[in-house]
Amino acid sequence: MKSRDLSAILKQSFGFDSFRTLQKEIMEDSLAGRDVFALLPTGGGKSLCYQLPALVRTGLTLVVSPLISLMKDQVDAMDAAGVPATFLNSSLDIEECRRRFDKLEKGEYRLLYIAPERLMLSGFLNKLRHLGVGLVAVDEAHCISEWGHDFRPEYRHLATLRELLPEVPILALTATATGRVREDIIRQLRLKDPAVYIASFNRPNLMYRVLQKNKAYAQVLEYLKDHSSQCGIIYCQSRKTAETVSKKLNEDGIRSCPYHAGLGASERTRNQDLFLRDEVRVVCATVAFGMGIHKPNVRFVIHYDLPKNIEGYYQETGRAGRDGLPAECVLLFGAGDTVKYSIFIEQKSDPREQELAREQLRQIVHYAENSTCRRVILLEYFGEKFDAKECGACDNCLSPREKFDGTLAAQKFLSCVFRIQEKSGFSVGLNHVVEVLTAHATEKIKRWHHEELSTYGIGKEYGRPAWLEIGRELVRLGLLTQKAQKFSVLELTAEGRRVLVQRVPVSLTEPLVPVTRPSFVSRSWQAKSRPGEISCDETLFERLRQLRKRLADERNVPAYIVFSDVSLRQMARDRPKDKRAFRNISGVGEKKLENLGDIFISEIAEYCGTH
Ligand code: ADP
Ligand code: MG
Repeated sequence: MKSRDLSAILKQSFGFDSFRTLQKEIMEDSLAGRDVFALLPTGGGKSLCYQLPALVRTGLTLVVSPLISLMKDQVDAMDAAGVPATFLNSSLDIEECRRRFDKLEKGEYRLLYIAPERLMLSGFLNKLRHLGVGLVAVDEAHCISEWGHDFRPEYRHLATLRELLPEVPILALTATATGRVREDIIRQLRLKDPAVYIASFNRPNLMYRVLQKNKAYAQVLEYLKDHSSQCGIIYCQSRKTAETVSKKLNEDGIRSCPYHAGLGASERTRNQDLFLRDEVRVVCATVAFGMGIHKPNVRFVIHYDLPKNIEGYYQETGRAGRDGLPAECVLLFGAGDTVKYSIFIEQKSDPREQELAREQLRQIVHYAENSTCRRVILLEYFGEKFDAKECGACDNCLSPREKFDGTLAAQKFLSCVFRIQEKSGFSVGLNHVVEVLTAHATEKIKRWHHEELSTYGIGKEYGRPAWLEIGRELVRLGLLTQKAQKFSVLELTAEGRRVLVQRVPVSLTEPLVPVTRPSFVSRSWQAKSRPGEISCDETLFERLRQLRKRLADERNVPAYIVFSDVSLRQMARDRPKDKRAFRNISGVGEKKLENLGDIFISEIAEYCGTH
């Protein structure tokens, strides 16, 4: 298959002008009959890697997906693009299954979506051999690995596909895979000498921000009022918080619903559907709200509480901005959350688990408090080196935090660590040092007579949270070490001693946004154009959105299946007058041009007539 031909189909059927990173390479290798392993970030366009080739290869493309709720939407999207596709899962009755099977046998579909449990029914495996399968695409392939966090036992059975269809190439796709999971996927699926494609984890259109958590609900409410036409997710640590925040938002006139594992299956599906269909603007969710979110226009993800680790944070924020338009990821960071987690961790019984949790907490706190580029830290976690100059979309790059002369504070802190060690002959943890500095009278302070230290109470100019932050920054600066063992004790490094003895000046970062008004709006950020941004006539965009919603409801599909926000913004920017111009809009393929062209063109014309 020549790449020119793939490009032609890309526009004709899907309406896109160019491939995203690695899409073409993945398609070409897969079409050439090779096994392929592809790791692209969320929103990287993995589905297209099997959907488009399905139109040109001989034989049926079998897509294994764990998410029954998504299959219908995917098939509806294929239908809207004019690609014959269907799905089989437990939501269909026997009659309907049989009907679809007949059509499959006649070769009337290019794509078949299927849940792994259905695939394994013995009758089905036998029939499969006669369907002329040309490719097996395994979406969310990390579900096969016990090392990953979405392990699905049913996925294990996929290994038998290789025996059953030895000649058929496999395409494994995922957005989550550490080295170990990656190898596991390749082994479990028995991929033969696969072509391995791994894209950068960077999501240029996402803006990362951390705010000092202070009256979290009020902060969120203000954000939602500032972003009144957008939808997004608020991740909460507990089911109870998710419920409460959602309820309060509804009372404050913002339509929202909760999502967590405590809700029944039907209620979860219903709430997810409300969000997908833009009936509610906000979902207040726990981490249970995950893989199933394919809504491309999630414009913000707010973390109401501290996430457990960087990996989780990356995945959860990754659900924003799948469509490539700018989106925001806001973390509300409060010292209280850190304390709560630490207590929770100390209650764990397995010491190995405990140590892992401590390290993960340390990393996410490091992310939150650091004054360098957020992307550098996030991507470093995935082993990627990122140049902060390329960022331009995180709070630390756009408005660097102020530094202050922290020499005195550092002197006090370091000498306190030194005096404690000198007096007691052992080292203590961060909390204890801060309690000595701020003259607390804890049981340990009394037991160890630390109130007799010359450094006791010399730090009253700052509160406890500020000292905790200063202490952690001194660790980052290499003046102290913090051993990740139980109670993670602080010790002076050689450099720390030098700074202490020679009174070397130390520059420290101002604490996170000293919040008086919990404002999210920053003018300097709004002025700049953002990666992925499409400026357009917002009033017209709003009108087209309403038209889209009406059409989507008539067809009983989510709005994005009619057109993406990218398509609508381009329409509101270019104002196509006729079909020829309309064809140039991203997302407009032949079928949509025919079915939807006239109605959108006339809506635009009507608007232009009055404006
Ligand atoms: P993933 O599964 O990797 O998270 P999806 O397959 O859901 O990503 O695609 C995310 C979005 O990107 C979808 O809305 C899809 O239509 C769009 N998309 C995919 N490929 C392209 C492309 N080449 N050009 C424009 N949009 C694309
Ligand atoms: Mg996907």
